[in-house]
Amino acid sequence: MSGSGVFKLLALTLLALSINGFSLPLFFDRLNILFGNALMYFCLEVLGFRYAFLMALVLSLERQLLYGNVVSSIFIPLELVSITLIRRVLHQNLIVSGWIFWVFAGLHIYIFAMTSLSGIDVATAFTPALKEAINGLISVTLGSLMVILYTRFYEREKNVSLLELVFVFFVGISITPMFLRSVYQAEIEERHIHREVKKDMNIVMKNIRESLNYWLDIHLGAVRELANRLVVWGGGNREQLQRETEAIRRSFNEFHACYIADPDATTITFYPEVNPKGKYMIGVNFSYRPYYKKVKETHKHTFTEVFVAKFALKPVVGIAVPAVKEGKFLGFAYCGLRLDRIKNIVEEFALKEGFYITLVDKKRRVIVSNMKGVKPFSKFRPGRFEVLEGGLILEVKEKEEKFLKTGMEKFFNSFFYKEDSLRKDTGWRVVMEVSVLPYMSSLFSKLNVNFVSIYIFSLISFILAKMFTHLSASPVRRLSETISTLEKGIDKNPDIRLPQTNIEEIRRLTQAFEDMAKKIFDYMEELRKIAYYDPLTELPNRALLKDRIESAISFSKRNDTKVAVLFIDLDYFKTVNDTLGHEVGDKILVQVANRLRGVFRETDTIARFGGDEFVAVIPNVKDVKDVMRVAERVLKIFNTPFDADGEDVYLSASIGIAMYPENGKDPTELIKNADIAMYKAKSEGKNNFAFFSEDLNRKAAEILVMKSKLHRALSNEEFLIHYQPIYSIEEGKVVGFEALLRWRDPEEGLVPPYKFIGLLEELGLIKEVGEWVLEKSFSVSKRWSELYGIYVSVNVSPRQFSDRDFVRKVLSTANRVGVDGENIVLEITEGSLIENPDESVNILKKLKAKKFRIAIDDFGTGYSSLAYLKKLPIDIIKVDMTFTQNMLHSNIDRSIVKAVIDLSHSMGLKSLAEGVESEEQLNLLRELGCELAQGYLFGRPMTEEDAEALIREQKGL
Ligand code: C2E
Ligand code: CA
Ligand code: CA
Repeated sequence: MSGSGVFKLLALTLLALSINGFSLPLFFDRLNILFGNALMYFCLEVLGFRYAFLMALVLSLERQLLYGNVVSSIFIPLELVSITLIRRVLHQNLIVSGWIFWVFAGLHIYIFAMTSLSGIDVATAFTPALKEAINGLISVTLGSLMVILYTRFYEREKNVSLLELVFVFFVGISITPMFLRSVYQAEIEERHIHREVKKDMNIVMKNIRESLNYWLDIHLGAVRELANRLVVWGGGNREQLQRETEAIRRSFNEFHACYIADPDATTITFYPEVNPKGKYMIGVNFSYRPYYKKVKETHKHTFTEVFVAKFALKPVVGIAVPAVKEGKFLGFAYCGLRLDRIKNIVEEFALKEGFYITLVDKKRRVIVSNMKGVKPFSKFRPGRFEVLEGGLILEVKEKEEKFLKTGMEKFFNSFFYKEDSLRKDTGWRVVMEVSVLPYMSSLFSKLNVNFVSIYIFSLISFILAKMFTHLSASPVRRLSETISTLEKGIDKNPDIRLPQTNIEEIRRLTQAFEDMAKKIFDYMEELRKIAYYDPLTELPNRALLKDRIESAISFSKRNDTKVAVLFIDLDYFKTVNDTLGHEVGDKILVQVANRLRGVFRETDTIARFGGDEFVAVIPNVKDVKDVMRVAERVLKIFNTPFDADGEDVYLSASIGIAMYPENGKDPTELIKNADIAMYKAKSEGKNNFAFFSEDLNRKAAEILVMKSKLHRALSNEEFLIHYQPIYSIEEGKVVGFEALLRWRDPEEGLVPPYKFIGLLEELGLIKEVGEWVLEKSFSVSKRWSELYGIYVSVNVSPRQFSDRDFVRKVLSTANRVGVDGENIVLEITEGSLIENPDESVNILKKLKAKKFRIAIDDFGTGYSSLAYLKKLPIDIIKVDMTFTQNMLHSNIDRSIVKAVIDLSHSMGLKSLAEGVESEEQLNLLRELGCELAQGYLFGRPMTEEDAEALIREQKGL
């Protein structure tokens, strides 16, 4: 516990103790309304439970000392613990928790404790229990109110909940005044009771005194009459006196015995003459009796002390009246008056329930009482006295039983008390005791009605407050919750749930928020598109693709199915781009994307992976055949041409397929392996698909090894050049050789160019190697041209051609070697030329100026547009091998070859057919007017020596 915490606790406790000192008493100080508990709840909220519990113990002790009320003392900590628990478990505020506690547990426990501990009945226990409950609710409410004010004004960094604020004020404002009103009403009622009681007691007291005095006076009068007889008739007239004694005794039947005595106290008359013991009573001397002395000396009548009549066993008072004539004492008359008759009188007047009248004698012995258990001649025992407001005296008679104090026992033994002397000559007093019980009951029933109505009212308040806060605060709260969780929901669920309300201000706030959120969503959507979608084709991009593959993998893990990843690469697309320009290329890519979209299902993903590469993901694959069918469908979309600004363009694609889980465990691996499979499809003739296999993987690994080897191949002098003869169909002899690069891997031996030229390009080594090829082949050309008039045809890779220094390098190499341009043919692919047509024209013109000849290589495989070629200074068109080899079987191919030959003639160019392997092919080419041919028919690529041997053989050397 911190120092400031302890200090606060001390201050709060002291304050609570003193507030309890100024309690509002409800009915005879017994039902006290204590507001100190409010500070306890304040403490709970501000300092925490442990502090509040300590405070509860202190307050409990105070209550015990102040009021000796065990039940309510125990209840303080119990209440605190229970309410705190309810609050935590049900997540309600303090007030509602307090209400739940009191309604569902507290009230019952309290009543039970009261009835079982002090033996009072449930109906009576109900009132203090209700009072305690409402007192508790008010404490809790006031505590909450204080907390709100405190946080609002002192702990500004803490936030006040609007909901709480509205609720607490609403409840506090509604039930506290009602409660105070009840207290006030009880106060008024109590005063009224006091007045009534006082009035009733005065009246009854007056009446009872009058009646008793009257009754005594009558009997006293009768005795006087008897004494008067003695005066009138004198003591000698015994017979007459005896008759008179009998007559009086008979006419006042409360007299139990009467006699007349002479001045010496010897009886002259006596009635009854014989007592129950059979003793004759006339002539008996009573001078020993104290009243004799009194009447003789004072000459005044006297009442004896109350005694028990010997034979009647009834309380009796003796009345002795002296007979005095001219100051001379003649004797006296005496009657014993039976007092049981008084009981009737007392009972007559104690009509109201709970009215007790007790007559006591000088010695405060009970003469008669209508109070149960109070016996005649017992000593009258009064209780403790308290002076009440209005001069009323409250007598509290403690019971003997040792009950636990509940603060209620007093009511059962408390009486309004009034005592008055009856008359001087007897010294008797009348004690009037009026039980408070009936008054209490009526007050309690009034209080109960009040309390129950407060209870109901508070319930209604709670409901109203809940409704009101629900209407007002909860939409605001929900709105703020929605706002705070908006960021989480953005990608999952763009339909934000906003609170429905028809409170205008909140509705407008919601509206504004909704508009704002919609804008944010739109921006987010755009951002998402940028982040996850390819802007050109609007297909998912690599990032989204990886996500999709991942979720497909986790789906297939659960369902024990497979995932297929298809790597789709367009064949010849680079050529399209190069020849038609990027803009057209883009348009075609969009068309490809749209067609691909049509091939795949909703659950599949087709993404753009790179320039002309697409990757498709097919989740939940059960049968590999399904994947093959999809791949075939993909290939089919290339059967129809694409639209390049009005011109038809044919494309094809190569597809590599990798399967999860066999070919990879994660997206990266799957894509990589699909890519490898794609290369296989491409190498197997394009427009094709292939599945990944470990074999392919090995090949891919080999490529890696090869790449590393190629780096040092040039310096290690592992490159060499083979020469393939070029045959002139017109002249019937070899006129030139094509220089074809070879790589002799020290481990693997000769490696064919299709395996490494692409790698050299990738590695950026092609320029260096290309320069070496130029150097080497130019020097061979110089020798062969000079010796045999044979030229050399050199391949120029697109990379080489696009190099700015290309022309300079060619010219300087030729210069250095000393070869003439006319003995060199530079083979350039049509793609290289058309990538940058204007620049190409310049380059070619520069080369032409130095008499270099230009051949277009692999003509017919890319996008063929002769219109472009017209602008270029070209000498030879090399018809691709596929056409040459197919033209014997395929009419289309034959007509293509024919068209190319015819066209080149019309443009003044020569045509060269590649891949001539048979006489039939040669014959057909001759027929078609093809000038040049190349192929195994004339010779395979061979070493420089072999080539030279071939030339010499041809020359007949
Ligand atoms: P290319 O320029 O079309 O070369 C002709 C290819 O066809 C050569 O393959 C040659 O061996 C092959 N060939 C020739 N006649 C026949 C035939 O009757 N039947 C068959 N089946 N094939 C025949 P090679 O030597 O494997 O070269 C492949 C490609 O490598 C060349 O195709 C060329 O594009 C490239 N290449 C070769 N050397 C170089 C070079 O020094 N620089 C550059 N940039 N590329 C080169
Ligand atoms: Ca070539
Ligand atoms: Ca070629």
